[in-house]
Amino acid sequence: KGPVVVVGAGLAGSRTCLELRKLGYEGRIVLLGEEPSLPYDRPPLSKAVIAGKRESKPLKADYEGVGIELRLQTRVESVDLAEREVVTADGPVAFDNLVVATGAAPLHLPGTGEQLTLRTDSDAAALRDRLTEGARVVVIGASWIGAEVAHAALQKGCAVAGLEFHPAPLAQALGAAIGSRFAGWWNGATLRTSVRVVAVEPDGVHLEGGEVIPADVVVTGIGVRPATAWLRGSGLELLPAVAVNERLQTSDPNVYALGDAAAWWSPRFKCRMDVQHWDDAFTAPAVVASGIVHGDASELVHDPVPYFWSDQFGHRIEYVGHHGPSDTVSIDDGYERGWTAQWSDADGRLTAALGVDQSKLVAAWRKEMLTPQTTGA
Ligand code: FAD
Repeated sequence: KGPVVVVGAGLAGSRTCLELRKLGYEGRIVLLGEEPSLPYDRPPLSKAVIAGKRESKPLKADYEGVGIELRLQTRVESVDLAEREVVTADGPVAFDNLVVATGAAPLHLPGTGEQLTLRTDSDAAALRDRLTEGARVVVIGASWIGAEVAHAALQKGCAVAGLEFHPAPLAQALGAAIGSRFAGWWNGATLRTSVRVVAVEPDGVHLEGGEVIPADVVVTGIGVRPATAWLRGSGLELLPAVAVNERLQTSDPNVYALGDAAAWWSPRFKCRMDVQHWDDAFTAPAVVASGIVHGDASELVHDPVPYFWSDQFGHRIEYVGHHGPSDTVSIDDGYERGWTAQWSDADGRLTAALGVDQSKLVAAWRKEMLTPQTTGA
């Protein structure tokens, strides 16, 4: 077989290459990544790394040893599907199979003031150095990353203000009723909800209505956008995540996409999923590798029950499943520590569950949701 070119040397890209070798693929594998570091895990960045407790570490992998051509600091500019090549500053790279694993990039707000975002190891090192005692840190967005950053900043003695557009932290992901339960965790900080930031300017953070909040450090944590601009005009469907089927194939069966850059069709939930969680980037590579090695005979599909976690303010939040707007939620506070929430659909089936400091229960619910449901028909 001809070369497999994997674009994006993050978790999904790196694991795809290793899975290919595990399945006995003997052809050329080229892994192209624009960052200077060897592939690494991102979750520790917003936790131990910015808190100054550990450095970012590369993923355990011997690329050279298993014959993976890893080219760092190599940004792919575009792809030509007809010519079967991707274009880099150093010239074209030909492929038989292409894997899009370019992840996602943080969104910014308007304005000419400095906005720090957190995606890479160098972002984390820069932020860590700015979180000094007494620094006025404004965190825009009280969602997953915002809460983890606020927690680290408080631990380092900063004066932290959180600004959230929604009526409660995490409200966009979990709804305002659940989200409001997390507001108390921000106690050491000043959390303001239902506020709209219009711009970040050199004199501070500008709110709708004219108020300006002065800051030494502004961290913008308002979400990410799939890094797929390099695929514009290629003919692939961009949502902007790359649309793929449950085998993670695009409309071109030899072009795959996975991880934060992809939106796959989920037979389980009968909708397109675009979750951007570590677990997804960890599990999807086996499906792509199997597709490349076995072709149509591959039996693996990517149809997971989504799972993610967040460590914030000394607690672990975990979510498993996928709830829709019409699902009903019930909350259980009957534990010594933590609490849980469960979402059910109109037929009373469990669609999603949330655990706060309840890892064992979440693991059990995850298992339950993974078990195929019979209709009894
Ligand atoms: P990425 O890890 O983003 O890798 C993509 C790579 O492609 C990057 O290195 C990028 O530079 C490169 N690239 C992009 N464009 C190009 C191009 N044109 N040419 C070449 N290379 C390119 N998830 C959880 O479930 N729990 C957590 O607690 C959690 N914490 C997180 C904390 C932080 C700070 C961040 C940023 C993410 C966190 N996540 C967490 C999400 C998780 O890390 C991501 O879902 C995962 O990294 C996605 O992996 P990926 O390989 O698809 O993308």
